[in-house]
Parts: sequence; structure tokens; C-alpha cells
Amino acid sequence: MTLHDRLLAEVERRKALAVAAMPGPWAVWRDLDAQGFYAVGEASGVIPEGENWVDGEHNPTAHVYVIEDAEFIAGHDPADALRRYEHYERVLERHSIIWRTIGWMEGGDTEYAELPVCVRCVPKHSHFRTRAEVPQACDDILDLAAALDVEVSDG
Ligand SMILES: [Zn+2]
Repeated sequence: MTLHDRLLAEVERRKALAVAAMPGPWAVWRDLDAQGFYAVGEASGVIPEGENWVDGEHNPTAHVYVIEDAEFIAGHDPADALRRYEHYERVLERHSIIWRTIGWMEGGDTEYAELPVCVRCVPKHSHFRTRAEVPQACDDILDLAAALDVEVSDG
């Protein structure tokens, strides 16, 4: 499985989790039943300060003691995650892999081979000093691997 395939699989796995979760936007409110807790969940469930009821069924997604943690969770709701993963999919699409004839100089001779390279970052007829300098993955894909905590090498 290539790095591209592993990154796409990880993005799809995370997207499925975000789709399955309570849709956003999420918000924070002081939980009236459990003193000391903050509730985090669907923004329509926010109980305004001084009120003790909102219409409808609103179950919090989480109860959190620390307001900063509650605000962090609410700010990273499924809608936020989906926007991020859709951005990652666009990066993967823009930096897809193509087999190209790539050349390099080694021992004074020019050599060529069909190699899998980034369609955007390694132009046609690219030439490198050595075969080792031909990038296995471009910087954008390496950044994506770091963001998703996916190992670059498959071994
Ligand atoms: Zn690239």
C-alpha cells in the first residue's frame, strides 16, 4: 500500500467517525443537572444563562469539568473535522501520483526510469543528480502524513 493509499484510508476512516458523530455546530453550556460540569453538544441545546430549559430533546455529547477543555471540544466539532478532511482530500488529489520518465546523473551517465512521482511537484522530464534525490513523496504529502500521524515508510 502506497503512502497515498494509506493517507486516503486514514482520511476516510476519520471522515466516517465525523459523519457518525452529532452534527455541528457544537456549543458549551453550564449543565443544570450535574453541578460543576459543562455540557458540550449541539448548539441548539444551549440553555441561556438564567434559564433552566430549552424546548426539544438535547442530550449533551460530553460533560467536561474544565471550561477550556469544553470550548476546545466544541471548536473541534464534526463540521470542523469534515472541513479539514475534505481539505486533506483536495491536497491528496492535487498531489496525486503519476508514473513519469525521470532522469538522473550518476557516475557521469544519464539514466532514466519510469518512477511514481507527484504529478504537481515533479514536472515531466525532470532530472536529478542521483536517483536517491528523486522525491518519494513531495513536501505537501509529507506534511499531510505528519498531520495525520501516518508513517511515511510502509515497513
Ligand atoms: Zn506534490
